[in-house]
Amino acid sequence: MIITLSPDADVRRVQQKLTVMGLWTQLTEGVRGRALVVGPHSPPVAAEAVRAVDGVADVLTPPSPHPKVDAARGARVEVAGVPFGVDAPPVLIAGPCSVESEQTAHEAAEALAARGARFMRGGAFKPRTSPYSYTGHGVDALRWMRAAADAHGLGVVTEIMSEVDAELVAEHADLLQIGSRNMQNFALLKAVGALGRPVLLKRGMGAQIEEWLLAGEHLLAAGAAGVIFCERGVHGFDPSTRYMLDLAAVALLSHVHGLPVLVDPSHGTGRRDLIAPMSRAGRAAGACGLIVEMHPDAERARSDGPQALTPNELTGVAADLGVLPASRRGASPWPQEAHR
Ligand code: PEP
Ligand code: MN
Repeated sequence: MIITLSPDADVRRVQQKLTVMGLWTQLTEGVRGRALVVGPHSPPVAAEAVRAVDGVADVLTPPSPHPKVDAARGARVEVAGVPFGVDAPPVLIAGPCSVESEQTAHEAAEALAARGARFMRGGAFKPRTSPYSYTGHGVDALRWMRAAADAHGLGVVTEIMSEVDAELVAEHADLLQIGSRNMQNFALLKAVGALGRPVLLKRGMGAQIEEWLLAGEHLLAAGAAGVIFCERGVHGFDPSTRYMLDLAAVALLSHVHGLPVLVDPSHGTGRRDLIAPMSRAGRAAGACGLIVEMHPDAERARSDGPQALTPNELTGVAADLGVLPASRRGASPWPQEAHR
């Protein structure tokens, strides 16, 4: 934003008033007069409010590169009757990294529903770093998860890896996930957006926030019914955790952009012992919910076992988030004071 000043403006007084609005500005003088340039880390302030300041001649705002994402400020994204938004009740999404069998899908769904989760997550088509790793059970996994979720009143969240599978996955899922590795797969974003459904957009592990917002713009421009952003950690330098969960990004999306953003502390840390504290931190930063990995038999999970909660551990996380049904509160094996 550039704020031009009238010839008789008292620059210091104008700057003081702008600072109160949160705008940090720098004076520049050119042949056409004086102007204030707003610094890049200032919050969005309506141009009309700035124009109303005594001494301001005009306000020039460059067009936003992501107008549809900007227009979603404060709006809720509704998925299978559940609202996601900065002022909506917190939502818990949980489930295995990958759906491994019909039986474990049912066990997981039962455990999730009992703890107040509204959606079951689980991979059917898994992105794997090595071509020799297990890649999921595909369409069978979609069917097992849909049936298990339906039996327990849960919605389904699962990843779409390729345009080729998009319609098939969308037939079985309520919320379509774009994974971290595909955040900038523009052909996939276009195909998934064109389905006209709500999308969960994970942040690329090396993506800047602006690139993430622009990926959201791709989805909305293609026709997505809404975008829920998900911070799942970025590459850091320290192997003690798998990724570095960027909570400032969560606060920025939630508080500055007014967008629904979830935190994924499972992939964000890679360690089940850090999931509970980082879930609380994510919520404090402004996340409207969590997506966490939970496996009924975490030690034997075929992928991401070390970052999967056991059902008992999920009870504590659900209690912290405030979604644990009243009937189970006394049954928590993980009292509040034990994990503060
Ligand atoms: C997942 O949620 O299963 C997953 C693979 O996550 P990410 O894309 O964040 O790595
Ligand atoms: Mn995983």
